[in-house]
Amino acid sequence: MKMIFLSLVFLSSFAEDSTALADNLPYLDQQFSCSTQEEAQGVARDLNIDVKSFGGLELCNAQIDFKKLLNDLVIIKNGKFSASGANLFIRNFIPPERYYDWMKSMTRGMRRGNEIPSATAYNSSGYFTMQEGWAKLSTLGRVGTVLHEARHTENYRHIPCHQGPYMNSSMQGCDENYTYGGSHAIEMEYYARVATQGQNFHPVYKSMARLMAIARSNFVFNSTPIRLREGLFTLDKARQKGLLIDNVKTFAREVPTSEGLLKRTSFGASLFSGQKAYAIEMYGTTGGPSELLDTYSYFKLLLSFPIQVKDFEEFDFNLKRYAVAITNTNKLISFDFPTGKWGSEVVLNLNPVKSSTALDNGETGYFLIDDQLSIHKYDPTTHQVSPVGRKWNADIVSIAKINQRLYFLKTDGKVYEKSSSGNLEVSSIPQENFSSMLSVPLYDGFEVVL
Ligand SMILES: [Zn+2]
Repeated sequence: MKMIFLSLVFLSSFAEDSTALADNLPYLDQQFSCSTQEEAQGVARDLNIDVKSFGGLELCNAQIDFKKLLNDLVIIKNGKFSASGANLFIRNFIPPERYYDWMKSMTRGMRRGNEIPSATAYNSSGYFTMQEGWAKLSTLGRVGTVLHEARHTENYRHIPCHQGPYMNSSMQGCDENYTYGGSHAIEMEYYARVATQGQNFHPVYKSMARLMAIARSNFVFNSTPIRLREGLFTLDKARQKGLLIDNVKTFAREVPTSEGLLKRTSFGASLFSGQKAYAIEMYGTTGGPSELLDTYSYFKLLLSFPIQVKDFEEFDFNLKRYAVAITNTNKLISFDFPTGKWGSEVVLNLNPVKSSTALDNGETGYFLIDDQLSIHKYDPTTHQVSPVGRKWNADIVSIAKINQRLYFLKTDGKVYEKSSSGNLEVSSIPQENFSSMLSVPLYDGFEVVL
């Protein structure tokens, strides 16, 4: 009897899932069916698309950019939203049922070009030019770009950034605040709607939208709409279970199956393999494949600039965001965001075997630990690396700082904290046999749920 009951449960939930998924919009280019000639010609006419510049009227193959654009338009046209689910990003700048019509009314034409390689796309009096950057994005990123560009037609402009990767550069990449309702806000509102009110989007697309909203909204507004708090994230020794501790609550999290170093990112954390990174979803479960390529934080630079590196760190220092990598030949490179290129290499006269973003004295930054366990500090303003005159304790795997409190993961797999006498004592957090631990940024843009 028990067996029958179990298999019935399995069958019915399986049937339910596949029906629900079948009604969802695809989220990977290869999942889209071929468009009909009529549909394709219809949107090309509607939006005055320069079909030839997108590679011709391709109906099936998304290697051709025209089909990519068709897929984006299918998502914009057919996405459905419910009215429930309040979220701080949702301000009704664009009525949810009007995305396609509104975008169409803001579009004088579209072409594919590559004149400004540092931009993803640009809008010239309502005429959009989609660049190489657009073609390389996920479906979600491309849809976000189209909606973002549409808002520029109404004369919403960017201003120089007071924080983030473009801080102190002449690049006008930010909006003053969220309520201005500029291109960034339109984009974030769409992502938040997909994540919290989306009715026919694939669960993975919804997760992607949530990660994208967090990753971008934490630096594109000079006055931020979201508040930061710190969480503690751990991986068990089998690397199958992620544990997020958010204040007093503990949440199990999906872990990508790929090997890699656990790294803090601007949206949470990723597993970094040397050539790419896989995002870890801190706010909930994706319900999809656990391998979600990190195209949200600046670990995405590894995808557009393929280099083999042994370490990579994305971090903020005095409000400015940095992306720094250590090559396999022990050279340090830092990405120059305003020019869109890696800066010149700094030869390190040491062999880093480990890096840390916090030290046992509470100092934070980007620290390299050499094969003699000596600690060296990277200064992002001068790109110089200099010894701090202390050694890393070999018993410590990692150090995380959360609200002035230090957590130490030791080689015995337990997390410790400093007692009032200065000794390390086993922390009262739920303990497992941990292999990695770090502090992760959490934002109030989305609720952290099971
Ligand atoms: Zn823009």
